[in-house]
Amino acid sequence: MLISDKAALSGTVMDLKKDFYMNSGADNNSYARNSKIQGLIISKSKSKRREAAVAAYLGTGRPATMSVADLGCSSGPTALLAVEDIMAAVERACVELHRRPPEFNLLLNDLYGNDFNAVFRSLPELNSRRPGKGLCFVTGVPGTFYGRLFAAKSLHLVCSSSSLHWLSQMPEELQQKEGSPAACVNKGKVFISAGSPPCVAEAYRKQFHRDFATFLRCRAEEIVRGGLMVLAFMSRKNREAALMEDRYIWGLLEDALNAMASEVC
Ligand code: SAH
Repeated sequence: MLISDKAALSGTVMDLKKDFYMNSGADNNSYARNSKIQGLIISKSKSKRREAAVAAYLGTGRPATMSVADLGCSSGPTALLAVEDIMAAVERACVELHRRPPEFNLLLNDLYGNDFNAVFRSLPELNSRRPGKGLCFVTGVPGTFYGRLFAAKSLHLVCSSSSLHWLSQMPEELQQKEGSPAACVNKGKVFISAGSPPCVAEAYRKQFHRDFATFLRCRAEEIVRGGLMVLAFMSRKNREAALMEDRYIWGLLEDALNAMASEVC
């Protein structure tokens, strides 16, 4: 897990949209070098993305310029994977349809602290991987996807991979002081563990519900009629809220954060 340590260490509650970002650059601790699983998720969802790309192109009346947004693009090798694949799918379909392919407006979104510079530096490689292909124009769009990011009815396709599990904030109930009536205490824990009280899972469920509803409302304004979204994110295999399979890795993270917190207290 690669997060800004600034707010975590100062003991204040983070403002996620300002303080949170994946580690930049390309060293051992960077997101670029620690995102293999996310790359796997992008490749597993490839066929759905390709299908949706062609369906969105056809369903929106074969636009001359197709606007595609990737929400939570991050930086590193996975940042352009999804949009590249989308362009390839539409271009292939256009060959079969004997049509000139559209130009692409690629809108890469992430939070303000994201290493957009690294993404922009990799653009010449993107172009060199597309010899003889049509034009694509890339724009970085900093901001939170839990709010409006794009003009009304301006997007033909939205994709997002491994990003929507990030909530906009820690549930209010978990931020209350112990003893206050609305408090739900997940003592010393940073995730829903087998020992967490039931109110913890419920607080996270409600926060996800609020956030996801906001996300859908915003995208409903931004997507043109006939446009589509492809959202890939991890989920649970059953109704058990505690993270059984990931207990080991989250437990290690919890130990590390608790150790850091005890150093500043
Ligand atoms: N899609 C990329 C990155 C996944 S990591 C991939 O598959 O590798 C999740 C990304 O979502 C991070 O870069 C994080 O900064 C971003 N993110 C989290 N919350 C966000 C929000 N509210 N708005 C925009 N981006 C967000």
